Formats: sequence, structure tokens, C-alpha cells
Amino acid sequence: MVKGPLLKSYLLRLQANEHIVLIVIHHIISDGWSRSNLCKELRETYSALIEDRENSIPPLKLQISDYTNWQEERFKNPDFQKHLDYWKKKLSDAPDPINLPLDFKRPKFESNKGEKMIFDIDPSLIEKLRTVATKEGATLFMILLAAYKVLLNRYSGQEDLIVGVPIANRNRSEIENLIGCFINSLALRTDLSGNPTFRELVGRIKKTSVEAYAHQEMPYERLVTELEISRDPSRSPIFQTTFALQDFPEVKLTFPGVESKSLSVYLHRCAVELDLTVERHADGWKTRIEINSDLFDQARIQWIHSHWTRLLESIVENPDERISDLDLISSKERHQQESVWNDTERAYPLEGTIHGLFELQVARTPEAIAVMCRGEHLSYSELNCRANRLAHYLQKLGIIPDTLVALCIDRSLEMMVGLLGILKAGGAYVPLDSGSPAKRIEFLLGDAGIETVVTVREHASLFSDRTGIVFIDEEGDWSGMPSADPGPTSDCNNLAYALYTSGSTGRPKCVLVEHRQIRNYVHAVCDYGELCAGSFAMMQSLSVDTCQTVIFPALHLGGVLHLIPWEDSLNPNTLVSYFEKHPIDILKIAPAHLSALLAADNSELILPKQQLLLGGERLSRSLIEKIKSFRPSCRVWNHYGPTETTVGVMVEEVLIDEKPVGKISASIPLGRPLGNVSVHLLDTKSNLVPIGVVGEICIGGEALSRGYLNDKDLTESVFIPSPIASSSGDKLYRTGDLGRRFADGTIEYLGRSDGQVKILGTRIELGEIESVLGEHPAVANQVAIVRNNKEDRSRLVAY
Ligand code: AMP
Ligand code: MG
Repeated sequence: MVKGPLLKSYLLRLQANEHIVLIVIHHIISDGWSRSNLCKELRETYSALIEDRENSIPPLKLQISDYTNWQEERFKNPDFQKHLDYWKKKLSDAPDPINLPLDFKRPKFESNKGEKMIFDIDPSLIEKLRTVATKEGATLFMILLAAYKVLLNRYSGQEDLIVGVPIANRNRSEIENLIGCFINSLALRTDLSGNPTFRELVGRIKKTSVEAYAHQEMPYERLVTELEISRDPSRSPIFQTTFALQDFPEVKLTFPGVESKSLSVYLHRCAVELDLTVERHADGWKTRIEINSDLFDQARIQWIHSHWTRLLESIVENPDERISDLDLISSKERHQQESVWNDTERAYPLEGTIHGLFELQVARTPEAIAVMCRGEHLSYSELNCRANRLAHYLQKLGIIPDTLVALCIDRSLEMMVGLLGILKAGGAYVPLDSGSPAKRIEFLLGDAGIETVVTVREHASLFSDRTGIVFIDEEGDWSGMPSADPGPTSDCNNLAYALYTSGSTGRPKCVLVEHRQIRNYVHAVCDYGELCAGSFAMMQSLSVDTCQTVIFPALHLGGVLHLIPWEDSLNPNTLVSYFEKHPIDILKIAPAHLSALLAADNSELILPKQQLLLGGERLSRSLIEKIKSFRPSCRVWNHYGPTETTVGVMVEEVLIDEKPVGKISASIPLGRPLGNVSVHLLDTKSNLVPIGVVGEICIGGEALSRGYLNDKDLTESVFIPSPIASSSGDKLYRTGDLGRRFADGTIEYLGRSDGQVKILGTRIELGEIESVLGEHPAVANQVAIVRNNKEDRSRLVAY
């Protein structure tokens, strides 16, 4: 339906001598240039009227309809085909739409709801940019467009970028004075690959722009039809972001003898996802940034402005810089990211061993129960004496600091005796799951060069060809050993344990953790996680590092450690009756495991009385809501960290009512770095990423383990020299996890960059998922696999 009029005008009288001239004109018959024409004509007509003369507006040589007819004729002209061919060639195999750092989940249908802000530009900056332009034989527009493409490249990581640029399209004098919609958009596509210098990029932009201007007559709307691209209703076709330079102040409506000012009317519309316009106003240069408000929040505009300004400054400072090295981050933001959010220095006593913390507790509460399993228990002093006897025996077998000793005992009191015995002897334990295939066990023993295995008679067959097997349930050999502490042999720089990560296929990697790191973890997790003495439950296999969160804090704080046997840990009914008998204060469990358990009736009694620590994988809001509805008084914490950086590096209490959930991932944000740990988000070139932009989570400080056993190359490839000047420690561990920061510094987890997933606490490769799930039908029902959604670049998330 066509409904006019397309132009309405009003004179609103406020007072006898104060009026508002209101002209409403549809974009379909006007554009910015038309607005200036209209203002000029109105002024002249008004002046002529009050001066009682003919107006001097020259008669139009052409009408808009003449132009339209002429244009229709042009489309039929073979000459015009050249333009179409150019654009078809230029935009064939067009890149994926740009992935800007969104604040909200993209709606299914694109809206054009908008917000804008206008910022002053330092006039000297424009002058300096003009100088750069002159040196390059380019225009100011080309320099600014190149800068805008760098900004987009750094936001999205994409190298093939199309930006829409409006052109006035009035390149014939006959149409200069017409009112109509002549404006056209050019799709400027530039290849940013190969990390060019900014000057090289300007060369590319120059070429793109000159070519595009030569073919500017192709109307954008027509091009969209001709290209026959498949339309996605959530995204604009061809380009999703625009840039403009407005190098002439807009003509304002003024009348002689009348004092006038323009009132701005903002309709909260933005035709694209992001528009950046540099424009000259009567009072100086401005940057106008408009965003689609379904995708971004207001604060984003400020961040974009901060990054844009810093980028222009760093271009002026050194146009020969490679585009990946141009700075985007203001000193204020850098300070915030590097220091304020990593202000974690704490004076924990790190000199000493992890079993040293246990021994201090033995002295404090010798008679208190230390560990319980299957209805049996050991007091602190009993556990200590038994571990000491084993330790003396192991020392006789030749165990010295940094010797790796395998520990293959299912959850039981003996497991704890074995673990502490190995540590007290000076060695480091390497947990082996008795349920692993014999081939894997054989591989691990060979790989780690392990000569001594502490196990139980029941698992003897796993080690039938070996010597150096200590059966912990046959005390014959070692029961006569002294029960006093063997005295310190290892120190904080020796190994405490080694864990194999990665799944059942693929080459497992052995992570070496020293006493200093696990001591820091225990102090920090007790401190930041507000843990205190109570009853702790351990639900996972010792070969999963999350166990350290309960074992060592429990023993350090004088708590009771409940070891839940494997078969019980999967059975909600057994767990409920156990926990009824033995109320648990603190439970650490993987989210997938807990949600599987909570699916059973009455299973809410599984939840601990005080603190629930969830970690090891992505935490969803729906699980939290369920927990909170079952037990509102239970404090819930999100724990995050890889084995390579000693169990955990970030913790945060989940306060569902106040804290935002991940705006894109809908997961619960990761928390704050623990004491003496720093967390940074870096891009692939090891630069800090701006706030809100996806980067790799990199970890520094006391959490960093020694690296991988016998794999210097792999160790050096992921434990990199820290590019952060103010970082604690000189190395950073690249986790392979993707994340982005919220304005409060917390990090949204966005999956892994390498396509790994975790199931039941085990990292596996993407290709392995079907086979792993095949072996765990019970888990398969609980694991939802969300395939890559390009927006957050996460490859796969299991929960
Ligand atoms: P692992 O070294 O086997 O403990 O695996 C560590 C990996 O598990 C991390 O790099 C993350 O990918 C994932 N992860 C651990 N904790 C969390 C968490 N709280 N939220 C999301 N992912 C997590
Ligand atoms: Mg872990």
C-alpha cells in the first residue's frame, strides 16, 4: 500500500516570537544532500518573501523522474553490464558476515533499533592523520577507512572485510540541486591478510576505493538482487557495518533576521550493526558511533570510541607498524586489565611441602577424624603414622625428590595412606585409574619412566610383568617401619604430583606440579573461596585434578574428608542415604555429574549444607537455578582452571540474582583470579584484547606448573614468555580456552579454540566424542552438544 504524503511540514508556535519548523520527509525521496538543498531553498524563498522580490533559485534542468528514466535506460545499456560484472566478481565468494563483539544474543530477525553517541575529536589528531594521508598519496577518507578496517579486524579476527560506504552519487552538475534519494552504498571489500603494515594496508584500501568509485553507479539494492545471495533474516546482506567521512558541515536551516538553532530528533534507528562516521561540525570534528541496540549495550559505544581513538593515535605515532601491533587499548584500560583486575598479590607461606601443611594439622588435632570411606575412618595421627611407615619404606626403595611413583588404588583409606606416603618419602604421585585399559597403564608407566607402583593386591594383574610393586594392603613389608615423620627431603620446588590429561585416545600429556604451586592453590582457594573446617566429600577419581580442591584444603583445615566410592558416586539413592548419615558441608563436583544426579527423585539431599563447588566444565544458569530452588541457603561457587595451572585459577560465588550470566553463552561467568595468579585475554599475536572482545585465556603467576614431562617443545609452545609488562611471573600459560571480559572484569567462558570438549572431567578431541559417549551410555543422555555457533567462536560445549 502506498500512503502519502512523503513530505509534511509544520510550524509550531511556542510563543508569539518563538517557533519550531518541523519538516518530516521520507528517506525514499531525500538524503543528506537533499536536506541541504531544501534548507538553502527555504532560506532563499523566505528572504525573497520578506524582501518582496523574486527568489533567485535557478530553474531545475532535470526533474527526479527524468533521472529515474535515464537510470532505467542505463541498466539496459551494455556499458552498465561492466559495472555489474565488476561487482559480481568482487563480491563472489563473499566472506562470512562480520563477528563483532556482541553484548546480547543475536535475535532471529534483525531489527534496526539503534543508539548513538557523538564524541569530539582532538583537531590536531585530524591534522596528523591528514599528514599521514598526504605522505601516502591517499585521502583522509582512505586513512580513516583503513583504520576502521583495522578496528574491525581486531574485534573479529577476520581478515576479509566488507564495509559499506555511502556515496552522495551526485557526480553530474544537472542533478546537484535535486531533492531525491540519490545516495548509494558501495561495498568496499579489502583483504587484510598477511599482517600488513598500516601503510601497506592504505595501499590496498586506495586500490579498493578507486576501483569501487569507478563502478559507483551500480545501485546497492539492485546489486543485492542481482547477486542472488541467500538471505539470512538475522543479518544484513553483503555488509553489516558502515563507515563515512563527512568533510563538510551540514547546511542548517536559518532565516535572515531570525535567531535559529537546530533541534536534534533521534529516532533510535540504526540500519546496520555498527556505523562509525567522522564528521565536521561547525564547532569541530566529531566521531559519531551508532549501534544496533539489540546487539550491543550503551557501554559498548564508549569502548568502541576508546579503542578507535587509541588506534588513530597509534597510527599517527607509527604508520609502519604491522596492523596486529597497532595499539587499541588506552593506558587506562590497560591498567584496568593488567593490574586492577589482577591485583592478587598475597603473602601465603609457599616455602615448604604440601604434606607439611597436613603435618601441621596432625600436631593440632591428632585425634580428629581425617578421612572416612566405606564406614571406616582414620584419625589425623593414624593417617600420619601409616603414611610415615610407607614413606620410610619407599625411601629404602630409593625414592628421592622428584621421583614419580604410580598410585593405583581406588577411593579408600589406603589411597590416602599411599598418597601421603609417597609425598612424605619425597616422591610425587602419579594417579592411575585401575579401570583404565591395561595398554594405557602400560603406556603411562613407560612414558613417565615409573619404577615404583603403590597399589593393592586386587590390582596385581595390571602390573604382573613388573618389579617395584608395593602392595599397601599387605603391610608385611613396611609395617615395621618407623611411624615418625621421615623429616623433610623435598622442598617447595620439587614435584608433588603428575597428572595425565587428555582422553583415551590421542597422546596423553603428563603435567608436572610442584609443591609450591599446590600450596599456593590450597591457601588461595581457602582464602578466596572462604573454605573452613567441616566435612568435605570427594566424588571423583584421583586422576582428575579437581580432587585436590577437597583433599588438601580438608587436611589443611582439619576437616573430615569423605571419599565416595566410584559406584556410589553415580547412584543418587546411595548418595542420599550416605549424606543423610554423614552430612556434608562442602562438595566439589563437575556440573554434568551433578545434573545427572539431580535428575533422580529426592536427589536434592545430595546438595551440601554449606558450599557447593562446581568446576571442570562450563556451568549453566539452568543448573544453578535448579540448585537454588532445591537449597537456597547453599552457597554455590564456580571454579575454573586447567591442570597445567594447578587445579584452579579463578573462583567466584554465583549470586544468580545480581550477577549477569554470559550474554552470549548463557553460561555463568568465570570469577576473579586467585591469590598470586593473573589472568589475561590475548589474541593470536599475544596482544591484550580489548574489553568485550574474544581472546584466549592466559594465566600467569604462582599457579604455573613445571610443564609437561619429557616434552620441552610442547611446554615452550604453551608456556610462553609473558608479553604483559606488569605481569606477576615471567611466563603465561595459553589455555586454549576462549573468553571475553565483561565491564566488571569477570570473564565469560566461550569454549575451546581447539575443539576439545570435556566429558566426565576428561578432555577429549572433537573426533572422539561419538566413541567416548558410546562407552558411557549413561552420560550420553546427559550431554548436550551444541555445535559451533560462529558468533562466540566456541567450537563445542558440553554440559
Ligand atoms: P582439566 O585440565 O582437565 O581440568 O581441564 C581444564 C579445562 O576445563 C579448562 O581449560 C576449561 O576448558 C574447562 N573448565 C574447567 N573449569 C571450567 C569452568 N568453571 N567453566 C568452564 N570451563 C571450565
Ligand atoms: Mg581441572
